[in-house]
Amino acid sequence: MSYYDPVESPDETTVFPYHKLTPPTIADVFRARNRISQHLPKTPLIKSEALSAEFDADVYLKREDTLPTGAFKVRGGVNLLSTLDPDFHDPGVIAASTGNHGQSIAYAGRQFDVPVTIVVPEDANQAKVAAMERLGATVLFSGTDFDDSRVHAEELASEDGYRYVHSANEPALVAGVGTAGLEVAEELPDIDYLFCPVGGGSSASGYCLTVGALTDATVIGAQSEAAPAMYRAWANDHLEPHDRMETFAEGIATRVPFALTTRLLRDRLDDFRLVSEDAIRKGVGDLYRVERIPMEGACAASLAAMRQRADELSGSTVVFPISGRNIELEKLEALVAETV
Ligand SMILES: *Cc1c(COP(=O)(O)O)cnc(C)c1O
Repeated sequence: MSYYDPVESPDETTVFPYHKLTPPTIADVFRARNRISQHLPKTPLIKSEALSAEFDADVYLKREDTLPTGAFKVRGGVNLLSTLDPDFHDPGVIAASTGNHGQSIAYAGRQFDVPVTIVVPEDANQAKVAAMERLGATVLFSGTDFDDSRVHAEELASEDGYRYVHSANEPALVAGVGTAGLEVAEELPDIDYLFCPVGGGSSASGYCLTVGALTDATVIGAQSEAAPAMYRAWANDHLEPHDRMETFAEGIATRVPFALTTRLLRDRLDDFRLVSEDAIRKGVGDLYRVERIPMEGACAASLAAMRQRADELSGSTVVFPISGRNIELEKLEALVAETV
């Protein structure tokens, strides 16, 4: 057996000997910050007057959409590739993605001169595919959803020896995205609530490790009820795939829960909410109307969860990360028109 052969996995995904399933610590997040601060700016934390009025609270937007690639994930990609084992520089890395994870790895690959291959679903967001190609990645189309693409990427990794960058079973990704939470905890130590969307769970894990540990804040995850795999895993303590995966929000569209992030979220996440697709759609339209920010559907799951818990938020300090801005223009226009 070689280094490139899969090993026994606790979840339904394929993992390789180089995948450590031990959750990172806050020390890993501080180390990640030292590495990525040379490559990425801090992001602004800006009070939203409109949402503050809606919730009778101080609501701050953590503008992760202002990072290069337009989504938080690039923090993780840069951290992982900055410490990549040189043995993998040829043939490089491979990942499956609906778009933002792929853009993150493509960006970091260009930065560190590592070849990048990304497998995307056949109907992937066009703008995200174009962005990955612009960053120099090879984009392969395979399957009808993320999990089909993932299986193909896993096969190519074992056949061709690429370093497979898993979307969640990667302590370096979780520590990297956790740097956003360090920025929040330092700038706003009096935070009471942080609402975070959950797809594979890396982002929520990062906020739990930082904001959850360094402040008294309640950290709440949100997922679409049309794609509740991680919610089920968290609530019922298992790692079984879920058959339903129908969300329009590709950033949180997965059928399979991941071992590392499920464990971390079970230990540390304070609450996890399922929200409706209608509430997600409405959130995208509303935020565009009041703030002129084009947020992705994935991100709007958090706003929908805030609205579920609106009664408790009055008088408190709330952070709502704008996790990404790579929504297709036609989709945004349709949502703004449909939800007036
Ligand atoms: C990936 C993504 C999410 C979900 O993050 P996970 O770390 O996979 O849970 C939310 N919003 C956007 C914009 C994303 O790209």
